[in-house]
Amino acid sequence: MVGAATFSPGKAFAVTAIELVEDGYEVELEDRRKEGSCPACGSCSVRSYGWHRRTLQDLPIAGRAVRHRVALRRWSCANEQCSRRTFTQADVTVFQRYSRRTLRFNDIVLHMGRALSGLLAECFFERLGLSINDDTVVRHLSRETEEKKEGPPPRVVGIDDWAWKKQHSYGTIMLNVERNTVIDVIKNEDGQFAMPSPASLMYRCLGLTRGLFLQS
Ligand SMILES: [Zn+2]
Repeated sequence: MVGAATFSPGKAFAVTAIELVEDGYEVELEDRRKEGSCPACGSCSVRSYGWHRRTLQDLPIAGRAVRHRVALRRWSCANEQCSRRTFTQADVTVFQRYSRRTLRFNDIVLHMGRALSGLLAECFFERLGLSINDDTVVRHLSRETEEKKEGPPPRVVGIDDWAWKKQHSYGTIMLNVERNTVIDVIKNEDGQFAMPSPASLMYRCLGLTRGLFLQS
């Protein structure tokens, strides 16, 4: 048997209610952390100052979507010199500060984007009953590109076309095949479903690697 705790995305959050609604489960979560760290000054606080409510989408369970309604504890900063009087604190093992989805959900969005590109990933998510559009997928890929520009150059590069918006805007994605990471997402401004010129691609690739091998 599994209990209500199965629905919790992390140890800091207790499940207080679960409701089966038309499009999935709505799970009420309560923040059980005993202290918070002010994002402005770093002071630790144990003075609770009410609650902040937010919604997080999580991975589906048994084919049903899961939406968390989280009561995050709001803290009063203990530092009288601090510019922040109150604050809430994200649990970095569960979600990022301004994200509307859990980290594990975003991880799946990223994997789907790498494997299927934006529109196909959107179709796949729709079959799973999840509302993720291609713009969201592309945003995740672009963010990963920014975060992973450091490191050794790629040896094997995969290149593929994809549609940002069907019949309107197309682009090209470049992947590090060995690491399964995105190197770059290039938007073709002319709206044509065509790769950038070979010279243009070579110019970009030569800036990244030596002894290039193109795999499409
Ligand atoms: Zn503070």
